[in-house]
Amino acid sequence: MQPILAVAAMGGTIAMTAPAPGAAAQPRLDAVDLVRGVPELGDLAAVLVTSVCTKPSASVEVADVLEALTWARAQVDDGASGVVVTHGTDTLEETAYLLDLLWDRPEPLVVTGAMRQADLTGTDAPANLLAAARVALATEARGRGVLVVLNDEIHLAVRVTKESSTALDTFASPGFGPVGRVQERRARFASPPAARPAPLPPPEAGPVDVALVEAPLADDGRVVRAVLAAGFRALVVDGSGLGHVSAATSQVLATAVADGVVVVVASRTARGGTGRATYGYIGSEAQLIEAGVLMAGELSGRKARLLLHVLLHAGYAGAELAAALEARARV
Ligand code: ASP
Repeated sequence: MQPILAVAAMGGTIAMTAPAPGAAAQPRLDAVDLVRGVPELGDLAAVLVTSVCTKPSASVEVADVLEALTWARAQVDDGASGVVVTHGTDTLEETAYLLDLLWDRPEPLVVTGAMRQADLTGTDAPANLLAAARVALATEARGRGVLVVLNDEIHLAVRVTKESSTALDTFASPGFGPVGRVQERRARFASPPAARPAPLPPPEAGPVDVALVEAPLADDGRVVRAVLAAGFRALVVDGSGLGHVSAATSQVLATAVADGVVVVVASRTARGGTGRATYGYIGSEAQLIEAGVLMAGELSGRKARLLLHVLLHAGYAGAELAAALEARARV
């Protein structure tokens, strides 16, 4: 008997075609169209499909991700060996990470997309979908949480990022590299699955009440002050280097923490993450920690924002929140 593969479509370039010859691409394909475009899938598995949304990925909402999660769980509980979610590449790392925080099954959940739309010569859409399916059905992929597969590379959702706005090999895990590859029609992993933090309860479907801002050169703190005035429940700042902000911004952050706002500082660099005790000047990581700011470790600011959203919804606060963040900050 063939294994069962579940495929959920969420839009993106993999689902885009031009509405007229020469026109710019728009999301137009649903899950049935995508699967129909890859007849080899039928040799691998009995394929079940759903279309969660047909959106460009910047417009994907938490509600869409939760719908995909609920469907994926139900398919696995009904016997599916693995799940593939197709998604726009622009925010794919965020949806994959959010799913990874919540995925509580050993079956592989693989997120894929494409850089070249489905009606372009040399599109990577069918090859990526087929590779993702091979990984989702692989026994060796079990217990690894959510994986991202494009360009025949397999990445952990927690590490992966989109590095190029145009290149086919855009996805990378800076500082780590892929955990595996699809070669000769097989998923091959470099090492066995590592221990993963416990899955978290899904948040309610609603807006993300955690702001994300960058702390650039010559930042006088006005942007952070304005964001705080907008009433966000928590704030993530993409700091420079080991997690640094200007002296002016550090003052604003210290006041916010004293007022009860949860503040997390991430590093805007691609590798290495935030520090703890290397620098002690005003605006440094050590001084921010002293003021009660939490550090995102190796998580990017955009992933720290989603983690904070989930933790706050789950009721984490104070020392428990800090410990839960710390447990997930080294990836
Ligand atoms: N450029 C995007 C993609 O590659 C569009 C999107 O993210 O929806 O899928």
